[in-house]
Amino acid sequence: MTLANGRPYLAIPGPSVMPDRVLAAMHRASPNIYEGALHDLVASLWPDLREMAGTAGDVAAYIGNGHAIWEAANANIFSKGERALVLATGQFGLSWAASARAMGIEVELLDFGKSAPVDLDRVEAALRADRDGRIKAVLTTQVDTASTIKTDIAALRAAMDATGHDALLAVDCIASLGCDEYRMDDWGVDVTVAASQKGLMTPPGMGFIWFSEKARRATKGADLRTPYWNWEPRADASEFWQYWAGTAPTHHLYGLREALTMIVHEEGLPAVWARHDCLARAVWAAFDGWSQGNPEIAMNVADPAHRARAVTAARFGAPHATRLRQWCEGKAGVTLGIGLGMAAPHEPAYHGFLRLAHMGHVNAHMTLGALAVMEAGMIALDIPHGSGALAAAAGVVAAGA
Ligand SMILES: *Cc1c(COP(=O)(O)O)cnc(C)c1O
Repeated sequence: MTLANGRPYLAIPGPSVMPDRVLAAMHRASPNIYEGALHDLVASLWPDLREMAGTAGDVAAYIGNGHAIWEAANANIFSKGERALVLATGQFGLSWAASARAMGIEVELLDFGKSAPVDLDRVEAALRADRDGRIKAVLTTQVDTASTIKTDIAALRAAMDATGHDALLAVDCIASLGCDEYRMDDWGVDVTVAASQKGLMTPPGMGFIWFSEKARRATKGADLRTPYWNWEPRADASEFWQYWAGTAPTHHLYGLREALTMIVHEEGLPAVWARHDCLARAVWAAFDGWSQGNPEIAMNVADPAHRARAVTAARFGAPHATRLRQWCEGKAGVTLGIGLGMAAPHEPAYHGFLRLAHMGHVNAHMTLGALAVMEAGMIALDIPHGSGALAAAAGVVAAGA
């Protein structure tokens, strides 16, 4: 028998859970795109998007997912043959590097592996070695969604500044925006990219770039900047269509308006960060409990200081991760994330890792429910695990609330 027939919970790191209010806001007839209410709605989004990233700088929006927004950033920052220093702490830095390389950008890759944070000494050394200033920008993720490593962006900026190198800092916040604390201007970030379908609680299909005045000046005339990707008219449109380089993503805009109202105006960004922090720590407490005496089970990031608040990756020992995911979805209606790019060379695909997302429209009963379902699955499948995990998670919620 199955106990999955209720409201399903997609606990993967994107697309995330969409609030009913966001869905309801999108359920309407097509609006006039030439004048009227839609124009006012778009004008109201820009200040809230700035607040999301913590910047007084510019923001440009695109119809496209995270992969599109990487290309948008590449096209606006670089000319062909210029160099990017890309920091990889899992999968997503590698993918950003690949997209840059394919566009004719020279890529210097610092790969820190699958479970270690950025080594700032190596970043400093790479910048100091660049005596003729060929590195135009450092590209990094705030949270790598596969490894679930978080990069300390303020510390990275300080390390860059210590070298005297004038490279721009561009940060992929696709997984982390609206989950992990982020302060673009305070931390000296020049370019930030994000997408709609994770912390922003809106369907996949929109991407955003925030850029500083310094970034605008340093990238003037970048020759990879084709008309569609050019961030200038999108950030400062003299005609409405220029925001999108064509037809507006009408229904996404209604959904995004509702999501930003919930995040920025109702709950408030600091409370949103605090909620994600508490839920993340509840998840970590559960994993700590399950891994007691069971080295097969372990969070991928050992040091809590380097863990994301949006999603947690854990090793379960092949094939337990896959069996557990299948059980949770089929028997209890909770879909866990696959382990992305985490398998050791001798392991089949991703059977040894899984991810539990706690990003976006997620509250205590959802996270505690997902954890309890996972424990039920471990019992049903005879997966050895330590005791006291759920009590520990409940304790974190009790203390946090
Ligand atoms: C999800 C994600 C991407 C890719 O976004 P898509 O919308 O799937 O193209 C890139 N970077 C990070 C950090 C992500 O979490």
